[in-house]
Amino acid sequence: YQVKRDGGGARLYDEASDPHDEAQLGLLAQLRVGIEQGQLLLDYQPKVELRTGVTVGFEALVRWEHPTRGRLGPDVFIPLAERTALMRPLTAWVLREAARECARWRSEGRDLSVAVNITPRTLLEPDLAGQVARLLADAGLPGEALELEITETAVMVDPVRAAQTLRELRAIGVGVAIDDFGAGYTSLSYLKSLPVRSLKIDRGFVTHLVDNREDEAVARSVVALGHDLGLTVVAEGVETEEAQARLRELGCDEVQGYLLARPLPSAEVDAWLQRTGPGATTGARPA
Ligand code: C2E
Ligand code: MG
Ligand code: MG
Ligand code: MG
Repeated sequence: YQVKRDGGGARLYDEASDPHDEAQLGLLAQLRVGIEQGQLLLDYQPKVELRTGVTVGFEALVRWEHPTRGRLGPDVFIPLAERTALMRPLTAWVLREAARECARWRSEGRDLSVAVNITPRTLLEPDLAGQVARLLADAGLPGEALELEITETAVMVDPVRAAQTLRELRAIGVGVAIDDFGAGYTSLSYLKSLPVRSLKIDRGFVTHLVDNREDEAVARSVVALGHDLGLTVVAEGVETEEAQARLRELGCDEVQGYLLARPLPSAEVDAWLQRTGPGATTGARPA
C-alpha cells in the first residue's frame, strides 16, 4: 500500500510498524489464525455523563489472547493489521461482537450504546454504512445503539469520501465521535461541516489537566468549540478526582477513565451497571 499524504501531512499508515519486518510478518500470520480461532476478545470501558453520573454506554476495546505471549493490547497489532487485508475480518469481528453484547445489555431494558473504534482505512471502505446497517439489523439494534470512533487522520486523508460516509451513517442513526481530538490535524473550519455527534478530548490533554496550564487551555477550547458546534464533548483518560472536578467546571459532558473504571471484561459489565445504577454519582469511585 502507498502511504498517502495530504497537504497537512496526515498519514494513513503508520510507518513505525513495517510489515516487511520478519517478526511482524510472523505476528500477522499468527493474528490471521488467532482471528479464525477466536483468540480476540473485547473489554468495555464505561462512558459516564458528568452531570447525572449515569452510564450512557461503553467503548469496546479489542485484546488478543496470544497463545504464547499472553494478552496483547491493540497498539501491538492494530497498526500492523491496518496495513493488510486482515483489518477487514478483524473489524467485522469487533463490530459483530460489540453489537451482540450491546443487544444483550439492551434486552434487559437499558438504554445503552456501544462505541467501536475504526481505523482510517475502514472508514474509507466502500459501503461501510451498508455493512453497518446489515449488522445492526442482524443484531436487532437501532442505529442509535452504535457509535463509531474515528480519528482526525481518517477525515483529513480523504475529506470528501469521509464526509459522504459520515452522512450515510447519520442517515441510519449511527453516531460518530472524533477520537483523540486535539492531537491531530483537523482544520476547525472543516469540522463544522462534518456530521459528527461528539468530540473526545485526547487523553494527552486530560491526564495532567490540573497541573498543566496548556493542557487545560486545550481542554477548555475543545469544550467551547464542541458546544458551539452543538456536539457532545467527552474526556478520556480521567485518572483523578481533581481532573474530573475540573472537567465538570469546564462543562465537559461525559468522562471515561481509570478513576471510574478500567476497561471491563464483558462478564463484569452487569455488575458495573448494578453498582452504579441510574443516577449514581460520578464523584465517588465505585467500590
Ligand atoms: P482509544 O480509542 O483512544 O482508547 C483509549 C485507550 O486509553 C484505551 O487503550 C484505554 O484502555 C486507555 N485508557 C482508558 N482510560 C485510561 C486512563 O484513565 N488512563 C490511561 N493511561 N489510559 C486509559 P487500549 O485499550 O490499549 O487501546 C488503544 C487504542 O487502540 C485505542 O485508543 C484505539 O485507537 C485502538 N483500538 C482499541 N480497540 C480497537 C478496535 O477494536 N479496533 C480498532 N480499529 N482500534 C482499536
Ligand atoms: Mg476510542
Ligand atoms: Mg482516544
Ligand atoms: Mg488513542
